[in-house]
Amino acid sequence: MTSWIQTAKDSDFSIFNIPFGIAQLKNSLKYFVATRIGDYVINLSEINRLGYLSHFNISQPVFDARFLNDFIALGKPVTSQVRNELINIFSDSNGNLAQNTLHQSLVMLAHHEVNMLMPVKVGNYTDFYSSIQHATNVGSMFRDPKNALLPNYRHIPIGYHGRASSITVSGTNFHRPKGQTKPADVETPVFGPCKQLDFELEMAFITGKATNLGETITTDKAGEFIFGMVLFNDWSARDIQTWEYVPLGPFLSKSFCSTISPWVVTLEALEPFRVAGEKQTPPVLPYLEFQGNLNIDIQLSVSILAEGSDQEKQVSNSNYKYMYWNMNQQLAHHSVNGCNIEIGDMYASGTISGNDPSAYGSMLEITWRGTKPIAMPDGSERKFIHDKDTVIMRAFAQTNSIRVGFGEARAKVLPAL
Ligand code: CA
Repeated sequence: MTSWIQTAKDSDFSIFNIPFGIAQLKNSLKYFVATRIGDYVINLSEINRLGYLSHFNISQPVFDARFLNDFIALGKPVTSQVRNELINIFSDSNGNLAQNTLHQSLVMLAHHEVNMLMPVKVGNYTDFYSSIQHATNVGSMFRDPKNALLPNYRHIPIGYHGRASSITVSGTNFHRPKGQTKPADVETPVFGPCKQLDFELEMAFITGKATNLGETITTDKAGEFIFGMVLFNDWSARDIQTWEYVPLGPFLSKSFCSTISPWVVTLEALEPFRVAGEKQTPPVLPYLEFQGNLNIDIQLSVSILAEGSDQEKQVSNSNYKYMYWNMNQQLAHHSVNGCNIEIGDMYASGTISGNDPSAYGSMLEITWRGTKPIAMPDGSERKFIHDKDTVIMRAFAQTNSIRVGFGEARAKVLPAL
């Protein structure tokens, strides 16, 4: 299958993808639900207004909304059919829109004509800790290399409730956080700008179906509740974290900013890339057992771009398939106590690290707590992230002929206020 819109072989946005997002025209500030094919952003508000989706009877305001939540709330049986219809409209075999240049001029926008906005209104944000190599690395560094994993790790998908208000879309720059730290060489804590600012390479899923208080979701039904995924940079202030995290876990060291990619890639688009995860030993409790291949082969990278340089330094090359706990288990666990799930909630994976040091997903691990600095193309070195550095995460899945990508999650660190 190919599209009548020319798409480069290495484009994240092939006809097999059809992600959803919210775009805003740079010249008029009007926003709308959109998808993307190749270098074109497709205005779904216009597509619907022109009647291409008329048989779905979706009200126009759903496509003119500031967030995708109302669209997602239509339910997967509808949204996946809309996505299939969009694939049909833009595939080579369909001449309808392909031969209507007037309609094309209304619905197709060059990607540089729009800004991408935060795609969903996130009510609740949860951060898991589901990469066993990351948990092992952190445990080795801060506790004991011989007993790096805590006794609960292989039994329970560890997570905590994070801060939803500071999740931002790619391109949103932020100021270095300030806070309380206690350097090893002083008796009492000090206050000031974070000195160990770090990224965390994560993916996040977004729920598209709600539950009532008291209801639970089984691992075999979890897929029905997951609308799609984004790239997620869970920015972290390591020096603040080290001092504050005992005994309740991270707080201000994580809540100052997180960066996501703007296009929500549907679970349907990711199905061709399913793979088996690591065998879980010891066996998990029955409510966490699952059938089939539930990990996903998504290639991930992180690069740092220093101010004034035009050469990125790639510092990590990881993969979403390294997750010890899969999304279905995370959602089954999240709801097993009866906690209700809402449309637009976001669930991050936890830092994704592979076994090889080139696949570590944070500077904490890559530089091993600052003991192994990395050399930048401009001759400077990095233990953690400097002011005016831009961190760029990228993700894509690929088989022989199909490529489905996420684009970028990019943000620049501005000096502390
Ligand atoms: Ca995290």
